[in-house]
Amino acid sequence: MAPGLIERYRDRLPFGPGDPVVSLNEGSTPLVPAPRLSERVGAEVLLKIEGANPTGSFKDRGMTCAVSDAVRNGAEAVLCASTGNTAASLAAYAARAGLRGAVIVPEGKIATGKLAQALMHGARVIALQGNFDVALRLVRELCAKQPIALVNSVNPFRIEGQKTAAFEVLDELGPTHPLDALCIPVGNAGNITAYWKGFQEMGAAPRMFGFQAAGAAPLVHGAPVEDPETVASAIRIGNPARWEEAMAAMTGSRGGVNAVTDEQILDAYRFLAAEEGVFCEPAIAASVAGLLAHGAAGARRIVCVLTGHGLKDPQTALVQAGSVVPCEPTLDAVERAVLG
Ligand SMILES: *Cc1c(COP(=O)(O)O)cnc(C)c1O
Repeated sequence: MAPGLIERYRDRLPFGPGDPVVSLNEGSTPLVPAPRLSERVGAEVLLKIEGANPTGSFKDRGMTCAVSDAVRNGAEAVLCASTGNTAASLAAYAARAGLRGAVIVPEGKIATGKLAQALMHGARVIALQGNFDVALRLVRELCAKQPIALVNSVNPFRIEGQKTAAFEVLDELGPTHPLDALCIPVGNAGNITAYWKGFQEMGAAPRMFGFQAAGAAPLVHGAPVEDPETVASAIRIGNPARWEEAMAAMTGSRGGVNAVTDEQILDAYRFLAAEEGVFCEPAIAASVAGLLAHGAAGARRIVCVLTGHGLKDPQTALVQAGSVVPCEPTLDAVERAVLG
């Protein structure tokens, strides 16, 4: 059994031997070759399957560190603004730690699976009549006033935890298989910041390619987006908190930031499920859609980060997928239905 990531990487994380650790054995996620995608791109592409984390997204890497630090500091409650996955992760780790958890989400804008998780783990789920950017501003103001730990990716412990994904990728590839490029969806820009920090700490510098949805692409336009809109709800963010760091990662690594349309995102989403057997969230397909549309500057070995599990958002899947085949309970009918 692989240990949680604080235990695995304690020498590179800000936790001492006696510190409390709140863990669900997150991390150590699979790095899976993608032969069909590799063929289309003309390079070796691997998928980092972050949906294999305990609550189904990479947010668990940051949350184990942020919640462990909150416990260390004697916090009684943890709070975040969320497009869904941070809420699910906070709720699970707060339950594990015996802390009160509250999450503020944009009303009607979060995927069903994520909502179910947050509620099941017993967090207080607050539906804000406003978007993610407004929610984040309000939770920052509230946490400055009240003794509540803020666990959005503005919290440095989130970045510390999430940088371990870069360690895992490099450890797994080894020195004989250098990584040329990383493709990653960008929302609030914490994750790209974390990967870049992790790579730099290991002395690596793959090109960092960030992808945003066309209707929520502030980094591409160079200006905040007032009303971000996209099918990719996890990255529906108009004013990323880690704007400068994300730009520094992409410029410093000679990578770049590009936008992909919802249609390109959904094409990549269906392609990954049908051709590679990997079911991810729509938002995540942005990294693959971006790679297909924009390339990766001639990189030979590329990792696409698939940040969350497809089961998080069954509604989008059912709209995008084929329909079921009705059938009478006779052998003939079943035979016809199966052979279709
Ligand atoms: C949070 C999230 C993102 C965006 O990550 P940022 O750190 O906000 O850029 C992308 N995909 C999924 C599935 C997420 O949950």
